Amino acid sequence: MGVPSKIETWQMVEPGKLQRASIDVPELKPGEVLVEVAACGVCHTDVGYFYDGVPTVNKPPLTLGHEISGVVVAGEEKLIGKEVIIPAVMPCNKCAICASGRGNRCLAQKMPGNSLGMYGGFSSHIPVPAEDLCVVEDRKGMPLQWLAVVADAITSPYQAAIKAGVKEGDLVIITGATGGIGTYMTQIASALGAKAVVAIARNKEKLERSLSYGATCAISTQDKDMKAITAEFRDYCKANGLPANVGWKIFESTGTKMGQEIALNFLSFVGKMMVLGFGMQKVEYMISRLMAFDAEIEGTWGCLPKYYPEVLNMVLDGKIKVEPFVDVRPMSQIATGFEETHAGKLMKRIVLTPDF
Ligand SMILES: [Zn+2]
Ligand SMILES: [Zn+2]
Repeated sequence: MGVPSKIETWQMVEPGKLQRASIDVPELKPGEVLVEVAACGVCHTDVGYFYDGVPTVNKPPLTLGHEISGVVVAGEEKLIGKEVIIPAVMPCNKCAICASGRGNRCLAQKMPGNSLGMYGGFSSHIPVPAEDLCVVEDRKGMPLQWLAVVADAITSPYQAAIKAGVKEGDLVIITGATGGIGTYMTQIASALGAKAVVAIARNKEKLERSLSYGATCAISTQDKDMKAITAEFRDYCKANGLPANVGWKIFESTGTKMGQEIALNFLSFVGKMMVLGFGMQKVEYMISRLMAFDAEIEGTWGCLPKYYPEVLNMVLDGKIKVEPFVDVRPMSQIATGFEETHAGKLMKRIVLTPDF
């Protein structure tokens, strides 16, 4: 602990190229703190910036990584020594969007590894605004590294659930239920009391696992067309006395054309589709069906910092399980971590802890 002479980091010097660097510790402005990084998760968004040419707000060289837990070592006196989770997106708290309660989509928001200057989580330390940090008072023996995933992978689906008003007895479908976001969407829907949580995804092994973590039904899309997928869903509804075409809340977590088409296919009377996944493909849909169904489609981005303490408590109380879904590795293995995440076959999310 203490303030270092330099910040050790892995910079993206250009898309596809990582480089070790030692950078100066910036002078902290009022309202900022320096956090010693305990761990930073490798998210598909990072991989999108690195391999797929998705542009970052601040141009390279910059350090990627926005799923960060750590300890405050300098800045605001009252926070020094505190363990914290850094929200993936931090609102400006001054603009009209923030005042309207939608600060998660503030246009002046700061996101480490994207729009927070050159700073990101794959570093020994990071300077961040102090205002919205989520302080971890008692982590009940859980490693601080694991809590990195609260910064994004767990909070973004939580906000989606809150926006969709998920409550006791709800009917929920999750497309992409076994992915980085989907595994937590599934657990959160269950923890908030949904009585049916239908997990839809490709990988059978991961789908099998989802049945132990919130899903009440798992449907694999492998080698199936829409008709076969629909038939399987209808069989489940029939066997459990559920209406197949009324009131389902659907969480599209893939961002793929197929995932979106499946979600739209199941959107029906007084239903709701929440869009959490991002992709560039287009789908065709008869929008008038929304009128006929009295249904809704809504997008959701990030998570308001005010929800972080609730999510943290659900994790510490065991309502949301983290251990089976995180793989802590040394940060010096960042290149392999990026490659494996990009390949998309991992059972767990890689979380990197500084060793340099
Ligand atoms: Zn992310
Ligand atoms: Zn704002």
